[in-house]
Amino acid sequence: MAFELREGIFAIDEMRNVSIRIGKVIEEAEEWAEEMGPTPKPGIIELRKWDMKLLERYEPFYAPVQDFCNLCTMGPCDLSQNKKGACGIDLKTAKARLVTIACCIGAASHGGHARHLLDHLIEELGEDYPIDLGGNVNVEAPIIRTVVGIRPRTLGDLKEAMEWAEKELMRVLHATHIGNEESYLDYESKAMHISMVDHVLMEIADIAQIVAYNMPKAEPNVPLTDTGFGIVDKNKPVIVVVGHNVLYSKPILDYLEEMGRLDDFEIAGLCCAVHDMTRVSGGRAKIFGPISYQLRVIRSGIPDVMISDEQCIRADLLQACKAMGIPLIATSDAAARGLPDASDWPVEKIVNALVTGELPGVFLPVPEKVGQVAPLVAEAIFKKHGGNRKYRFFANDEELWNEINKCTQCMNCVFTCPHNLRIDQGMAHAQKTKDLSKLAKLEEQCIACGKCEQACPKNIKIINVIMASNFDRLYNKKGKMRVGRGPIQDTEIRNVGQPIVMGQIPGVIAAVGCANYPDEAKSLREILEEFVKRRYIVVTSGCHAITLGMITDEEGQTLYEKTPGDFDAGGLANVGSCVANSHIAGAAIKIANIFAMRPLRGNYAEIADYVLNRVGAVGFSWGPYSPKAAAIATGFNRLGVPVVVGPHGAKYRRAYLGKYFKKEKWWVYDIKTRSKVPIEPAPDALLVAVETKEEAIVQLARLCIRPNDTSLGRQIKLTHYLELSQKYLGKLPDDWHLFVRSEADLPLKMKDELLHILESEYGWKIDWDKKKILEGPIRRYDAGFNPTIVEEVYEKYAGEKPPQ
Ligand code: SF4
Ligand code: SF4
Ligand code: SF4
Repeated sequence: MAFELREGIFAIDEMRNVSIRIGKVIEEAEEWAEEMGPTPKPGIIELRKWDMKLLERYEPFYAPVQDFCNLCTMGPCDLSQNKKGACGIDLKTAKARLVTIACCIGAASHGGHARHLLDHLIEELGEDYPIDLGGNVNVEAPIIRTVVGIRPRTLGDLKEAMEWAEKELMRVLHATHIGNEESYLDYESKAMHISMVDHVLMEIADIAQIVAYNMPKAEPNVPLTDTGFGIVDKNKPVIVVVGHNVLYSKPILDYLEEMGRLDDFEIAGLCCAVHDMTRVSGGRAKIFGPISYQLRVIRSGIPDVMISDEQCIRADLLQACKAMGIPLIATSDAAARGLPDASDWPVEKIVNALVTGELPGVFLPVPEKVGQVAPLVAEAIFKKHGGNRKYRFFANDEELWNEINKCTQCMNCVFTCPHNLRIDQGMAHAQKTKDLSKLAKLEEQCIACGKCEQACPKNIKIINVIMASNFDRLYNKKGKMRVGRGPIQDTEIRNVGQPIVMGQIPGVIAAVGCANYPDEAKSLREILEEFVKRRYIVVTSGCHAITLGMITDEEGQTLYEKTPGDFDAGGLANVGSCVANSHIAGAAIKIANIFAMRPLRGNYAEIADYVLNRVGAVGFSWGPYSPKAAAIATGFNRLGVPVVVGPHGAKYRRAYLGKYFKKEKWWVYDIKTRSKVPIEPAPDALLVAVETKEEAIVQLARLCIRPNDTSLGRQIKLTHYLELSQKYLGKLPDDWHLFVRSEADLPLKMKDELLHILESEYGWKIDWDKKKILEGPIRRYDAGFNPTIVEEVYEKYAGEKPPQ
């Protein structure tokens, strides 16, 4: 006998403790008529053919960083000058393996985060808790649909995607063991595979937290939140969170709200943990800055208690907090920091141990307890110092000058600094003139990594000197960041899908990633503002979103305050924390689905092919450093989205570069003409590092060009590309002619000039009476052009085998 427990869930009398949930099967059959595509839940091999197509065109280029290997005890092995390691591996393959390992770490980080959140939320809310991303989002979970082939309706459904992703992670990590792959291309394919998995994991994490914590659901008009160093009220206890998993810090808000005491505290933080705190608090939590502000905040003595969770947090956090008398509560099992596990201790015992200084910190992986302990500790510590120790890097001026006067200008610090900041010159100038301005200037560029202090033979507290020198500016830095909105609405995609695919919206620039900026953070604003003004769609996330919210113009306003939050031409949409990057990839996928009606279900290669040929989206990471950023970028690459990284991005060791002069590599099948046609090299790179902000701007505009652009679209894109190159590099680019298919593609204002150049410099034939190009372009423009590089896609839509 069977009993229905809840709708669709049955228990069978004879089989005690067994229940069968059949609702999901019925629902899917009834509601999702979309046919399953060729690659649901792909393994390592299923999309290898797609990867090889990309890798054939966009050849991996390995940076000359580190030409030895010491991954096993047969090493270290010198792999320079075509030598092989003791295991037989060559340098290229060893580097591709390292890239794969980095992408695995990135995916595992998002995966650990997602798994923890999902298990916790299912335990709290149940498997049947619905996924509701608001009325304007019907295509929820576009990545999961495309990759896994399921349409998750509840938190419980996300488990299926999670389990598949965990298996793939195991498989790819296995492949990085000594004595596996022989081909660097196969490692690159695996790096792409695990990075696609990473995008699935980010989507799981962000969807779960959006629905469970009621974060903004695809809302363009979300509140602005305070950012910057001087945002907190120093007359209140300050709770500071750092890391990525809001699971541990949200209960602090809940507890204070329940007690009616939210206004008695300041809740602020760094990086994605506080990014997400602003999403759950409607902008009430405050953001000190990106992850590079950790030591600034700690050494200033602002926090009364520090809560750490996981990823990108300093490995000496406990030491840094201890030196300032700030109690630390470590919450994630990914970073227990050698602290005693206080999970079973009564709240009073934990509070007492931290406030008396008996313990510098505790490991407390129980979110609800963190919610109670943190405010009690913050309040007690605040009472102890009465607000007096806040906002200081040195007790007095004498201490600061004693440090400066110790400097001998040995330059050890300069050589070790990742930006080679001229600390020696700043110190010398201050010693001679008593003027701190040169040291103060370094603050804008310093990422407070502390490497200089390790190198200084005089043990000078260089970070404190730099921060104290810029004291007033640092404390007056205040800005506004628009809270993360989550996904892009289906209705927004409907509005912009066509102009993006045709090219009239010249592109989507997605600024994502970490804060290892090569120069002053204001460059980030300068770069993005250029594109906002030119009516590209600009999207932000993670530390880039935070940094952008800290840079004000002469009117004291941030770009968020001056720009709407829509996913539309001229808009600036902050999707949220790192895991919200999934909504950017999701938007590209939704364009293929909502605008072009391409089926998503288990249909990755077709969608990625669509994106590569038609969607002018480019990722941009000005200060990448983490393995997570490596995975995010490589995941975008597999989806057909090029990524531009700042100079430090070259240290990831590998770029994907197309070579325009290898003409045999630039082709597509045209479904309309049933032919294989040569195309312009667009986009001509999938992953490229740039040195300067000027180069970044020009490169971003260039990589928005796609084979499918209409004449008007190409004309608009070329106008921006040429104008930006002239504005920032002082010349026309070398390759603009490659993108011209007919005279209609030429920027109107420069048409005559460009026709003359095409004739005189490139030998093209021009009919000057009609001002028409007669001969020269790689191909002519055809309004019905329907490109693909995937044989199966050609066959599906052309109904025949592709031409040779
Ligand atoms: S993995 Fe191969 S190349 Fe690396 S240390 Fe071991 S034997 Fe040498
Ligand atoms: S702390 Fe700042 S100055 Fe020192 S090495 Fe790092 S970036 Fe350079
Ligand atoms: S390492 Fe120390 S002593 Fe040498 S230049 Fe830098 S700050 Fe001065």
